[in-house]
Amino acid sequence: MQSTIHGERLEDSEYERLLSRALSKVPDLAAQSVDFAIPKVDSINEGTKTIVNNIMAIADKARRKPEEIARFLSKELGVPISVEGQRLIVNGRFNAKDLDAKILNYFNTYVICKECHKPDSHLESAGRGMLYFVCEACGARYAVKNY
Ligand SMILES: [Zn+2]
Repeated sequence: MQSTIHGERLEDSEYERLLSRALSKVPDLAAQSVDFAIPKVDSINEGTKTIVNNIMAIADKARRKPEEIARFLSKELGVPISVEGQRLIVNGRFNAKDLDAKILNYFNTYVICKECHKPDSHLESAGRGMLYFVCEACGARYAVKNY
């Protein structure tokens, strides 16, 4: 006799309970999917420059090098940017809100998988101004524009 489990609709709360129980067995995964939050940019304006104080925290979260994020921001903002120690030196005056929007774009395009929405990913060179986004969680692989 076939089990009736496939014919039954699990109540949403039951589903969530089972899901959270399943996730609790893999704490690392649970931590990443539940607690993943993009750090807010901590920046100050100094003369004609903008200093980002927490680029290391942002880069760690993205699992990218600070230089990679600097390269993206530099292209987006149209100004030179350098990494100095733990900080990013942006050659222009920008407010934290504008920088947050750029960082959000970066995560959405280059860090978070568009298939499974998980951030466990890396980029591979694809030539011709393109990159491959490779998701380590679900195996998705797709082309994105290089920056
Ligand atoms: Zn994925």
